[in-house]
Amino acid sequence: MPLTIYNSLSKKKEIFEPINPPYVGMYVCGPTVSGESHLGHARPYITFDVVYRYLLYLGYKVRYVRNITDAGHFEEEGREAIDKISTKAQLERMEPMELVHKYTNLFHWAFKKFNTLVPNIEPTATGHIVEQIDMIKKLLADGYAYEVNGSVYFDVKKYAENHDYGKLSGRVIEDLLETTRDLEGQEEKRNKVDFALWKAAPPKHIMRWNSPWGEGFPGWHIECSAMATKYLGAHFDIHGGGMDLLFPHHESEIAQSTICNHIEPAKYWMHNNMITVAGKKMGKSYNNQIKLTEMFDGSHPLLTQPFSPMTIRFFILQTHYKSTLDFSSEALVASEKGLKRLLDAARFLKMLPVHTQDGVNTDKELNEKIQRLVSAFPDFINDDFNTAKVLANMFELVPIINSIKDGLIEPGSISSTTLQSLKEEMDIYLTQILGIEDELAPDVQIEQIMELLIEIRKEARDKKDFATSDKIRKKLEAMDIVLNDEKGGKTTWNEK
Ligand code: ZN
Repeated sequence: MPLTIYNSLSKKKEIFEPINPPYVGMYVCGPTVSGESHLGHARPYITFDVVYRYLLYLGYKVRYVRNITDAGHFEEEGREAIDKISTKAQLERMEPMELVHKYTNLFHWAFKKFNTLVPNIEPTATGHIVEQIDMIKKLLADGYAYEVNGSVYFDVKKYAENHDYGKLSGRVIEDLLETTRDLEGQEEKRNKVDFALWKAAPPKHIMRWNSPWGEGFPGWHIECSAMATKYLGAHFDIHGGGMDLLFPHHESEIAQSTICNHIEPAKYWMHNNMITVAGKKMGKSYNNQIKLTEMFDGSHPLLTQPFSPMTIRFFILQTHYKSTLDFSSEALVASEKGLKRLLDAARFLKMLPVHTQDGVNTDKELNEKIQRLVSAFPDFINDDFNTAKVLANMFELVPIINSIKDGLIEPGSISSTTLQSLKEEMDIYLTQILGIEDELAPDVQIEQIMELLIEIRKEARDKKDFATSDKIRKKLEAMDIVLNDEKGGKTTWNEK
């Protein structure tokens, strides 16, 4: 089964065929760095991390671009455009770039903990003002934009005359045009549906750049069009983001890029669904936007305990990205238990040696069951990245692995090829593709090192080299590790 992707543009699952294989260009709308990332941010970046990881696994040469919105994300309030970063910088008494740097660092720190791979390019809006101005100039020259008092707007009505505006989000242009202008200051626009490409900066506005239309700052939508075109070309493979970006952000991106580049920007549009909290949309008004730092230390009132980054990653991947994911502390507690069970089994499997010769005890039925489960992994991930089914499939394998661990299944009853593929595929899907790291891994290392030391000590004692064996015991004791020689020659250890 080839990889299929649900394309928000065609509204159906399509077989993934890159425009220029083996190269794949992927653009994901990045964070607005005006504040700390919260749980809602975790979903898109973890979702697209799995997409990126799987495409790399398939052997594609992926260029993954994820921008940093450090300018332009503003809310229009009357005549004024309120830039989120400018407002927050004034509030925190910081230089805007100081604020941007602080939250960019915090974003990187949190997503490193989530084990997300770093994109190939992480361009910033402020680093691409020239490219944005160039695009706006083109839009003006082509007659799809107009200037009023130093601000430039995209003419949506004009665009809709010969293009399908609303094809991505399902919005109907007639409805959008009929909406009355209810906001003061919107009179600059020909139609309320028009969006700003460039805003004239009011005298006190801190973030401002020179432009052919006077001092101002770029709109939010144009930054993604400019940076995607610059780094991925006019037509690239995948454009991703959260469902909340479908309209107006992505719809506007399509309109701008189509006019400037004479081709639609992306072949596949992918959108992850939202996280709800106890059935409610996440939002400031509900006070349910849990910051990632609060998730990690459990300090938010909605949490009963801290949750590790891997628990959150696992929780998110347990649901298909196109379904809503309802958050609750209880659901995360259940995920934490599930993850531990899975990692315990995976760790044991990793250490389990593969015998070189198959005996006579091979259990045919059991082997077939394992092979069937192992070969189902690609079918699930190829089905529009169904990580939920990949994980459910792993949980079908966990009881088998645990039975080997508990001595209920003889390792010899599984053929060496079956065991080998079970070990390999579990590792590939869990670690490489789903990106789930064993948080207890350092402990495993200690176990291994201790085993080695006990073995060396035993060898020394067997050779009557008591100087070496005593040295090992004493040095370990100094580190508060005690060796216990049990009857039958077995040695165990414990920390004091
Ligand atoms: Zn964007």
